[in-house]
Amino acid sequence: MSKSLQAIRGMNDILPEQTPLWRYFESTVARLLDNYGYKQIRMPIVEFTELFKRSIGEVTDIVEKEMYTFEDRNGDSLTLRPEGTAACVRAVLEHGITGGGQTQKLWYIGPMFRHERPQKGRYRQFHQIGCEVFNLDGPDIDAELIVLTWRLWGQLGIRDAVKLELNSLGTSESRGRYREALVEYLSAHLDKLDEDSQRRLKTNPLRVLDTKNADTQAVLVDAPKMADYLDDESRTHFEGLKARLDAAGIPYVINPKLVRGLDYYSKTVFEWVTDKLGAQGTVCAGGRYDGLVEQMGGKPTTGVGFAMGIERLILLLETLEQIPEEISRQVDVYLCAFGEAAELAGLALSEQLRDQLPGLRLQVNAGAGSFKSQFKKADKSGALYALILGDDELAQQVVSVKPLRGQGEQQSIAFDALAAHLATCIVQG
Ligand code: ATP
Ligand code: MG
Repeated sequence: MSKSLQAIRGMNDILPEQTPLWRYFESTVARLLDNYGYKQIRMPIVEFTELFKRSIGEVTDIVEKEMYTFEDRNGDSLTLRPEGTAACVRAVLEHGITGGGQTQKLWYIGPMFRHERPQKGRYRQFHQIGCEVFNLDGPDIDAELIVLTWRLWGQLGIRDAVKLELNSLGTSESRGRYREALVEYLSAHLDKLDEDSQRRLKTNPLRVLDTKNADTQAVLVDAPKMADYLDDESRTHFEGLKARLDAAGIPYVINPKLVRGLDYYSKTVFEWVTDKLGAQGTVCAGGRYDGLVEQMGGKPTTGVGFAMGIERLILLLETLEQIPEEISRQVDVYLCAFGEAAELAGLALSEQLRDQLPGLRLQVNAGAGSFKSQFKKADKSGALYALILGDDELAQQVVSVKPLRGQGEQQSIAFDALAAHLATCIVQG
């Protein structure tokens, strides 16, 4: 196929055989968030470029080199959203729904776009589910966000494969003092730092902490620690969070080098990581961003949130073979009709069945065909039963119900008893 007729590198089709797992994942998360009292918000996929520059920060990887930015026909600079928080903050400000200290517990789902090097677990269009909470500044809500993701891992059967890493970045004042100390220390070891870290030292020094370079990591062993620079407020907040996680029985490790890629975090930062996916091991990440709303022109409004990467979690479900059995079957019954009269009767009957059993997953054979070919299709559909309608059945106003998965004998069931019969033998997934 010519190149122009292929999908863009790093942007994937999610094929019919994969969508059941996606829908299972998405509905599991949606139900959980509903149950915790979070409300869904939907933002556009495109925003003014300025929004991301202002919120994510000019000297971050995302803004420096990963954004899909283009000019609108009227000359405006627009960007495909690389993450959800910026647009969410923009939306709550624009609609005044966090004004006067109003609390909002929100969630969103959708595609994000970053021009990164595509590899397993890293794509250019990927999908996130995220939560953002506004105007609740205590550690109780930070804990709730972590507790609910922990419950989700439990529901998905992946708890044993993920680990929680936690850190506190303090308030912007304490982070400022720490940044100074770090810059002073790293500047004294400048020649031992890798090139990237030397550059970051000038632009975004905290990012040096999460370098992958071994030489720089060696220098960092004796670097000043954020924990020693935390102000009392941040320290109390962090202790409050840890106490709640302990009370909820959620294991965690403190990772003093966890700084997160975005500029806007303060106090709590956390990541759920797995060692089952290779290098792309972070499946969910978040933190507190108490200064962001103000930075974007709003009244002081605290915020905390996270985003999980759907592709990575789907990969993890597949890797751990945590795919529930019921999602692999998508058809309950398959109706085969032989001859035109039977086909017409079959259509009427199937619509009647759909009225009577709204949850029934009924596939009607299309394109006619011999006994053999229709049975083959019925079997391939994964249905539990084939409903057979031929001249004999029609004459007697019955349907032959043939089990396809070895559950008993074929039975003749009268048209008007069919719904009740199917209701007893099909347990809805
Ligand atoms: P990473 O360190 O892996 O680049 P990040 O810190 O850039 O992640 P965030 O911006 O915090 O990621 O996004 C939250 C989550 O979204 C990540 O933990 C990950 O699961 C997912 N994610 C981020 N970028 C990608 C991508 N390019 N492809 C697939 N998933 C991604
Ligand atoms: Mg990244």
